[in-house]
Amino acid sequence: MSYVGRFAPSPTGPLHFGSLIAATASYLEARANKGTWLIRMEDLDKPREIAGAADSILNTLEAFGFQWDKPVTYQSQRDHAYTQALSTLKERHLVYPCTCTRKEITDSSALIGIEGAIYPRTCLKQALKKNHPLAWRIKTEDKTVGFHDAIQGTVVQNLLHDIGDFVLKRADGLFAYQLAVVIDDAAQDVTHVVRGADLLHSTPRQIYLQSLLNIATPNYMHIPVAANQEGQKLSKQTLALGLNTQDTVTQLWHALDFLNQNPPSELKSAEINTCWEWAMTHWHSNQIPRVKSMTIAPFN
Ligand code: GLU
Ligand code: ZN
Repeated sequence: MSYVGRFAPSPTGPLHFGSLIAATASYLEARANKGTWLIRMEDLDKPREIAGAADSILNTLEAFGFQWDKPVTYQSQRDHAYTQALSTLKERHLVYPCTCTRKEITDSSALIGIEGAIYPRTCLKQALKKNHPLAWRIKTEDKTVGFHDAIQGTVVQNLLHDIGDFVLKRADGLFAYQLAVVIDDAAQDVTHVVRGADLLHSTPRQIYLQSLLNIATPNYMHIPVAANQEGQKLSKQTLALGLNTQDTVTQLWHALDFLNQNPPSELKSAEINTCWEWAMTHWHSNQIPRVKSMTIAPFN
């Protein structure tokens, strides 16, 4: 089986150091396996998108010397595929409509799962509110879904108790990440997903959807995410700065260092291509620390 990996940024801001780490790990792992490496722009959530961010991310990746093997795909152009998957699940009565507001759910839910209030299945038990926009939820089952992560080891969840019936299509008409990612990884024949460990607990939901839709489950590798010294994940929310495209090699060096690849210090002043050559010949994913997050001190 040939290896297909991907990097799937959301255009909610410029590429920052945290996403450089994920891009670097998925890229090097694909190259080490003589695989194909793809970029998918996860621009489903138009309200959260920042104008120009998608192009800025691609320009930054290019400035860093990443080379993707096929044209970039955009989730905003794939509604038909998500609609079709949802119809399949509707026909099989695996999903149901929900008119609850977020407040109604927090007020009525007695159980808290891994990601907050567990939906108490109100709309399965009583009539929907009239003239109210519908979300679509998937029925979860009282059984364990587990997988073996290449870095984090075995992860097991009971979706009914740990997550609850989750949304596949929101009341505002937007498809949820969990559905889109499964459909797109399958459509692009992705065999290996390398991404941040902040998504580790989404993976059982994705595996559950794959099993319902008869889609093969890819291999997963969840790498530690970078946290700032206050312990928050580096993200657009915590205002991580965009990458500096003038000094790519220093930042790539720090990404390799974060991934525990022990880059020699002279590489910091090398050409970016020299740094990539070193990284491709010295990449050892088994050196990546088996933790979900690590603190990173400011550099430059
Ligand atoms: N778009 C997601 C993010 O930027 C990543 C999704 C994935 O790799 O599955 O956090
Ligand atoms: Zn409801």
